[in-house]
Amino acid sequence: MHEWSLAYSIVSALLDLLREGKVKKIRKVVIEVGKLVQIDLDIFRQALQEVAGLHNLQDVEFEIQEVETRFRCSRCGYVWTWRDVLNKLAEEIQDPELRKTCLESIHLVPAAVFAYARCPACGSPDYEVIEGFDVKIGKIVGEV
Ligand SMILES: [Zn+2]
Repeated sequence: MHEWSLAYSIVSALLDLLREGKVKKIRKVVIEVGKLVQIDLDIFRQALQEVAGLHNLQDVEFEIQEVETRFRCSRCGYVWTWRDVLNKLAEEIQDPELRKTCLESIHLVPAAVFAYARCPACGSPDYEVIEGFDVKIGKIVGEV
């Protein structure tokens, strides 16, 4: 499961911070999850707790915040969201299996979205993700 490997990388980033002495004790971690990544939040939460427990971080509270993914066209400046991409894909890809494969590949490699989506306003493939592209640590509450 991809959720598990994401949990491993978050916990390993926390361990690095502790090892480097950048923080003494971690109380709470806010994790921002871009909608584009389509994380199963229940599995992710469970994975975080289990992996953290393996590394003596069982007291850390994890708060997961979902962030809407937003795109901006480099050609016309139009801004749209992951919700728009989903609607468009549902419209364009009739075969549910094919749609599942497409969403799965974006889940595993977020940049794959560029292969499937165009600017809804002008059709350009040249756009950027301005928010909610990945899974990252938004904030750490602890003792320095
Ligand atoms: Zn455009």
